[in-house]
Formats: sequence, C-alpha cells, structure tokens
Amino acid sequence: MHNERFGAMALLVGLALGMVSVSSAAAQDVVGVEIRTVDLGNGVYALFARGGNMGLSVGDDGVYVIDDQYAPLSARLLETISGLSDGPIRYVLNTHWHGDHTGGNEAFGETGAALVSHENVRARMETGLAEAAFGRSIEPAAEAALPDITLSQGATFHFNDLEVQVIHVPSAHTDGDSIVVFEGANVIHMGDVFFNGFYPFIDVRSGGSLSGNIAGLELGISLANADTRIIPGHGPMGDLADLQAARDTLVTVRARVSELISEGKAEDEAVAADPLADLDEEWGDFFITSEMMVRTAYQSLTQ
Ligand SMILES: [Zn+2]
Repeated sequence: MHNERFGAMALLVGLALGMVSVSSAAAQDVVGVEIRTVDLGNGVYALFARGGNMGLSVGDDGVYVIDDQYAPLSARLLETISGLSDGPIRYVLNTHWHGDHTGGNEAFGETGAALVSHENVRARMETGLAEAAFGRSIEPAAEAALPDITLSQGATFHFNDLEVQVIHVPSAHTDGDSIVVFEGANVIHMGDVFFNGFYPFIDVRSGGSLSGNIAGLELGISLANADTRIIPGHGPMGDLADLQAARDTLVTVRARVSELISEGKAEDEAVAADPLADLDEEWGDFFITSEMMVRTAYQSLTQ
C-alpha cells in the first residue's frame, strides 16, 4: 500500500512537473485510475482521481469546476461530470499552475468553459519554468490552455444559488494560489495550500513559502466552522480539525528549522539534525519526506 501510494505520488509529481510524457505508459496508468465523486450537498461535489482533487457546483446555471487534473483523464472526467449535470461547464477555476491541476484546461476550454485563475497562474503557464523543483523544467503551456480570465485578489461568482468566493492566498504553495469558498454549501476547496494528512509540497521555485502556506491555512481555518467540509488539493476529505493539524505541524516545522538556522547550521547540517523525527511517522508517509520538508523549510526561511 505504501509503495503503491508512493508510486502514484511520484507519477503525480512527474506529471505535474512535465517530466513524464503523456504518451508514455505512465499516462496509460493515469487513464486507468478510478474517478470517485463525493456528494457534499447543495449541488456541490468533490471529485477524486489521480491529480489534484476537484470541486464542482452543479445546478440550473450549469457547472462550475475547480481544477481539471491531467490531460489524459479529460474525456473520462467530462463524462463523469455529464453524469451529474446536463448543463454546460461554464467556468473552470485553476487553484494554481501545476500540471496536475491544469492539465485538462484545453479539453475543458473546448467545451466552451471560461478558464479562470489568479494572474500569476497564467503568467507562469505562459512562460514555463527552466529550473523547476526536483531539477526539472516545465515547458510553456499551449495558448488554448491559458486562463481566459485572471484575477489579482479575488472574485465572487453568483452561481447556482451559491456565492462562490475565490480568494487569492499570496506566496503559499505557489505565488498564484486561490482557495474557493462555496458560501451557502459550507464547503471550502483549499487547493494545494492544504495537503490533508502529510507534509505538503511547497513550491519555493514558483513563489511559494512556508510562512505563506501557514497563513493560507490560517485563512482557511478562519473561514471554516466545525461542520465545514474541506476539499484538500491532495489527500482525503477534511474538516476544521484537519486544517488545524496541518497548520500546527507547519508551525512546528518552522520553529524547529528556524532554531537550527539561528544556530548557524547549514542546510545539510539542518537535515542531519533530523529535527522532525517525531513527526515523520504521521506526516512523512506521502511523497514529501522528512528531508524534503526540512530542505524546503530551510530554503524558504533563508530566502
Ligand atoms: Zn500543486
């Protein structure tokens, strides 16, 4: 189970960073994944497959989609969505620019949906990234995959009798993150600002930061109550307590790595000190290992 999970995550990261060809056997593996929907009430659904978790609002106005996974999954995702609604997909909101959240943009855009994101998402997709995380590069996205509508702070969509509030979180998982509140349904989609149950990937090379990620989690906490259902970018459905646990863990990571930095330790020495040993069993079992968490924290805190 552990290995299977790790393999899936390694593939996810590979695809996110554009280092796995979509024509490869790995992409076939993606096509075979199970697509699972969870009904959250009021026409709101969470949708789980292989990439970043999706959120949907379905109703008289049509369909509002948050994130769209990988291109090889688009046909099956569109089929799944058409099973929930006869209406058109009106909007696709990208929570950030990573390929496991934007890979379906072309196919979803072709259905007539408007692609929406923070302005930094479009800018990063347009230029790509020569030195992305994990020593890889990301090619510029095709014109048809670029968001049509960009926002700098936030926007509210009055849709399906809900207020769909898109709120930009600066410098968290990346520099283009949005979280989405389905006001009226008590559901929040956190994007990759929230990895539920394991150390998060913080993409410092895409403008993310540890303290910004903590602030983003704090924002989610301030918007949630005990009954709020929270869709994380990765991991299972969560709630307020899960958000608080993720925040608490990152606060601990920050405190411990900050202390090593103030003692004058170099990055490798900080890793060697193994400051997260007591947290690893609970939080280090996904694709971000203890070492990666310490290195990310160190790099973010010394920028
Ligand atoms: Zn991401």
